[in-house]
Amino acid sequence: MAIIVQKYGGTSVADTERIKAVAKRVIETRNGGHDVVVVLSAMAGETDKLIQLAHQVAKKPDPREQDVLLATGEQVTISLFSIAVKDMGHEAQSLLGHQARIYTDRSYGRARISEIRTEPIWHNLYKGCIPVIAGFQGLDERGNITTLGRGGSDTTAVAVAAALGADVCEIYTDVAGVYTTDPSMYHKARKLQRISYDEMLEMASMGAKVLHIRSVEFAKKYNVPVHVRSSFVDEPGTLVVKEEKSMEEVMVSGVAYSKSDARITLAGLPDVPGVAARIFTEVAKEGIVVDMIIQGSSGDTDLANLSFTVPRPDCQAAIQILERMKAEWKDLEITSDENIAKISIIGVGMRHHAGVASLMFQTLANENINIHMISTSEIKISCVIDDRQTAKAVQVLHEAFELEKPLHHEIPE
Ligand code: ADP
Ligand code: ASP
Ligand code: MG
Repeated sequence: MAIIVQKYGGTSVADTERIKAVAKRVIETRNGGHDVVVVLSAMAGETDKLIQLAHQVAKKPDPREQDVLLATGEQVTISLFSIAVKDMGHEAQSLLGHQARIYTDRSYGRARISEIRTEPIWHNLYKGCIPVIAGFQGLDERGNITTLGRGGSDTTAVAVAAALGADVCEIYTDVAGVYTTDPSMYHKARKLQRISYDEMLEMASMGAKVLHIRSVEFAKKYNVPVHVRSSFVDEPGTLVVKEEKSMEEVMVSGVAYSKSDARITLAGLPDVPGVAARIFTEVAKEGIVVDMIIQGSSGDTDLANLSFTVPRPDCQAAIQILERMKAEWKDLEITSDENIAKISIIGVGMRHHAGVASLMFQTLANENINIHMISTSEIKISCVIDDRQTAKAVQVLHEAFELEKPLHHEIPE
């Protein structure tokens, strides 16, 4: 008898028909002799609607109250789901974040889970009752409701699986698994049978929203096998697992893109120690997270240039902070570009294959796609490009790295 955590995303519980279909699926797993713990998202589009509501009453909604509001989306689905399961003759109990004892830090809107006291979940399982937990929400040490950031129900599910020592955490979504790239962006995207935690972590942080980044961090840290699969069709999905030797045989396993950043460029900065420290300290004080950074000096002046990316919604706030520095740095010029995209190729095989970067740059050059910034990690190369060229870039990189072909180590389905 296995312990299985099943998480269903927004499209999987989008209406009452879908909720009933999912309830049947959960009951089937239970009838197979397994202990099932369910984690649910809000109905598709509901969290967006709640955010819009908050913005109708305030330009900058109070973060604490906004979290109280956003947490209601998941309250609707867990109760409806439990009602459906009971109507089908089985036992289920809905548990809000605080009832499931999911504790987080105090960062409203992007809280991190610190602890899960699993007694209420075990108590339900011992009784033969299916615990149905609200994803995306928790409780801080002072008893305030917090939310985990968009897509955070995945993290609830994996954290619950880790805390229970579950055999697997199944993430049910609207696609059949993790693909070589976003299947809604490129029709030749291919479902991967397996992907390593590290590759999935890079894919998620580079924009592949199929899994919330923190969920992959938890999975890796606690060694939770994650199975990403469809709630619409019954076929095996993708297993996110520890790295295997054969995974290194391929240069690149996936292409990810993100259109959620903006680029800020500062020209005419004094080329002296402490300038970068000063800029990023001020930006960080406002809670703005900086990603890619490039600094350069022209050599023949004592001025430097600095470009960096920030989340697009934070761009104007970052510029305001920097404007204040013009009082001190007379030559400072600030420009920004919100129409950028980040395109990344990811693969553990990169560690041992030469020529990956050159093939990426040449492929983009052949299509006249200009690269504005580059950053790399051991298993990833990212380029900032114009966002209108994203689809083209995804397609040509997918072709150049032959991602439509099954990988050497894959078994034909
Ligand atoms: P859910 O509501 O079930 O949590 P999400 O919308 O958060 O679902 O995530 C699933 C979506 O992620 C897919 O519909 C797909 O468009 C997108 N996606 C982006 N990159 C990938 C990828 N590499 N593989 C699969 N899906 C991806
Ligand atoms: N309902 C939340 C969101 O839309 C959490 C989730 O779906 O994972 O972001
Ligand atoms: Mg999601």
